[in-house]
Amino acid sequence: MSIRDALAAGLGFRDLALIDAHAHVGRWGSFYMADPSLIQLVRELDRFNIELCCVTSLLAFSVDMTRGNDEVLEAIRFAPDRFLGYVSLVPHQPLADCRREVQRMLDASDRIIGLKFHPMWNNYPINGDLYQPLWELAAEFCPLVLVHCWLGGEEPEANNTPDKVAQMAARYPGVTVIMGHSGGSRAGQLQCAELCRRLPNLYMDLCGSEFGNLWIERLLEHAPADKVLFATDIPFLGAGSPAGRVGYAAIDDAIKRKILRVNMERILATCTRWGRDRFRSSTPLTRHGMTSTANQLALQMGTHHDNPDQ
Ligand SMILES: [Zn+2]
Repeated sequence: MSIRDALAAGLGFRDLALIDAHAHVGRWGSFYMADPSLIQLVRELDRFNIELCCVTSLLAFSVDMTRGNDEVLEAIRFAPDRFLGYVSLVPHQPLADCRREVQRMLDASDRIIGLKFHPMWNNYPINGDLYQPLWELAAEFCPLVLVHCWLGGEEPEANNTPDKVAQMAARYPGVTVIMGHSGGSRAGQLQCAELCRRLPNLYMDLCGSEFGNLWIERLLEHAPADKVLFATDIPFLGAGSPAGRVGYAAIDDAIKRKILRVNMERILATCTRWGRDRFRSSTPLTRHGMTSTANQLALQMGTHHDNPDQ
């Protein structure tokens, strides 16, 4: 049965365990979030058969870098087989603090996979001088960087247009760079597609890409299928939109599997020791033992109710 038919029959993604390249932990002051609790996050992962969720802290790039990054460690402790973490760094912090922060996080957990930059929120261009040494930190310690990336929108978004992000990917060919939201707008997605075609270390993720009104089928006429990554942006957005957009698309199942899992699995296996150990001997495309479900975690927390909807 095809992925599309299985979804239409209400069977979900069954034996295809998804990897979410871009999601968040913690609260956010600027707009409404339904429920950012960790148990609710895991419920959402369970619902869409998302085995691994790569998270960044909202607090870390907005208010308090260290406390925020601690929230990432908390998530990893909460559901150790479901979360992987990016370290958020703020370019306005002293470089010595950023360096210490990266080392602290890598020492704290082997599930720290890379760095996260948010140039729009931090109101500083991704190719500016203050970001330069942070890219060097990525090259030195953890060569995977997720960057918020948008084309159009309000003025601070000019800090992270696809061409500026790609400029950095070109400068650091040893660092794998994910353009978060694929540039957001339709024009942004098309530009990201073109840039991904040119630069081997550049990728684009799908969270929030629905705002560009570009169907996955159309996107894939421009973007290489190996460069597009499933991502949710939970708990800002739900996982249903990106999962459904890919799952129901009129494209081959082999391509859906690449987007929903295989491409990010390859990145993790290439860029992180954790990924190398984890994926070296396993066959891709299978459920890898998703042991901590929301129900099991709720039982441990003493909050489980026998509600089949949860
Ligand atoms: Zn995000």
